[in-house]
Amino acid sequence: MSAPNIETIVSLSKRRGFVFPASDIYGGLGSSWDYGPLGVELANNIKKSWWNWLVYERDDIEGLDSSIIQNRLVWKYSGHEQTFHDPLVDCRTCKGRFRLDKLQDVQCLNHPEVHPGEDKECSLTEARDFNLMFRTTMGAVSTEDDPAALAYLRPETAQGIFINFANVLNTSRRKLPFGVAQIGKAFRNEVTPGNFIFRTREFEQMEMEYFCRPEDAGRIHQEWIDGFQEWIQELGISSENLKLYEQTKEELAHYSERTVDVLYRYFPEREDEEKQWDELMGIANRTDYDLRVHSKKPEDAGGKRINPDSTEDLSYFDPQTNERLYPYVIEPAIGVNRTLLAVMMDAYLEKTNDKGETRVILKLKPELAPIKVAVLPLAKNKPEIVDMAKTIKRSLQPSMRAVYDDTGGIGKLYARQDEIGTPFCVTVDHESLVDNAVTVRDRDTWEQERIGIDVLKDYLQKSLA
Ligand code: ATP
Repeated sequence: MSAPNIETIVSLSKRRGFVFPASDIYGGLGSSWDYGPLGVELANNIKKSWWNWLVYERDDIEGLDSSIIQNRLVWKYSGHEQTFHDPLVDCRTCKGRFRLDKLQDVQCLNHPEVHPGEDKECSLTEARDFNLMFRTTMGAVSTEDDPAALAYLRPETAQGIFINFANVLNTSRRKLPFGVAQIGKAFRNEVTPGNFIFRTREFEQMEMEYFCRPEDAGRIHQEWIDGFQEWIQELGISSENLKLYEQTKEELAHYSERTVDVLYRYFPEREDEEKQWDELMGIANRTDYDLRVHSKKPEDAGGKRINPDSTEDLSYFDPQTNERLYPYVIEPAIGVNRTLLAVMMDAYLEKTNDKGETRVILKLKPELAPIKVAVLPLAKNKPEIVDMAKTIKRSLQPSMRAVYDDTGGIGKLYARQDEIGTPFCVTVDHESLVDNAVTVRDRDTWEQERIGIDVLKDYLQKSLA
């Protein structure tokens, strides 16, 4: 079982402190969301898992953290100034503004029961291109219309990797194939943001650019498509809620030879099965497009420099074949926010207790759970029990995220921890003062076991691994 719809996760998030609407006290900001005490932990754990899997557990990947604001020329030569558009339509009747290829995701402003264009009153304009990059100005004397001061917030983290290709190559002394991984914020002035954190104007990406010889690109692309499906399932996401989508020639971005998207079932409530899915990640073969366009080398037949502004040639000298080439790039790109939403939806479970009451359990993988253990005193008016519980919490916290809670009866405290995905609750009772042992309760089975305090940390660490 997983969440019946995104709204279930929206209300759980708000109720328990995963995600809040941004600028809420001023009426909100449409599509911005803030991550609360539990949301930030879950997002950090997802990022840690991605980083460990790529940078620490493999031998061929380096990390990077490049700037959000780069020289405007990066976006000129990457092609984003020219081509990073979405098709925009206006409705003359309801005055709504929509993205033509995502009409299914939004409602007509006059007739919320239908999508724009579906009511006979709807009158959509011809589509026109809308550039998605956020513009800003740099420097104290800059004005809105001074082209020299124009800068963009990055719409993808990838370009920061390409323009640092030579820096990473030279300092790490890597040989093909190798990858560079980066996690960071990206910004897109989306025409129709929505569906909670699925599509926002500010979001976080985890992108890895894997550089290889052109003739190996097809095979390596497939390896990353397979590899990422495994990693996503390791996060606890069921294969039943995942599927692949091969982009058509018309859908491919200007730099891509082949892109395969991994889709997640974000909209299980939709009757039409086809419409239940949307993109969790994209895995693209970007060819040698990016390294070439950022290179200073003469490229056209007449020897004219295609890029007169770059000071670097981003080609690679292969010592084995004695040839100079522009590596191909395979790019698995995944959003932190869309991953977090999929992880929460897939972990969501409703269970009935002995009293016939419905309880929510977030069956998060222990690795991802925001809190690993909650220490709860059974009698909060008994100082010895409270002291013992607080001491246990403090002894655990250097090795795992632990909390102490005495703000309710034990049933309520258990329910609260189940709902936020805490794998274990440790209860300190009167008996503990005598036998130096505590009760450990498992989130998924609700089974309880008596464990000596002296072995508690080891027991929990083993169970969490
Ligand atoms: P879409 O087709 O949904 O607009 P995209 O194909 O443009 O997405 P990419 O450019 O491939 O997205 O970006 C890589 C990943 O970044 C996406 O798979 C998604 O997880 C995440 N992402 C992209 N745009 C957004 C957004 N507006 N809000 C949240 N996450 C996003």
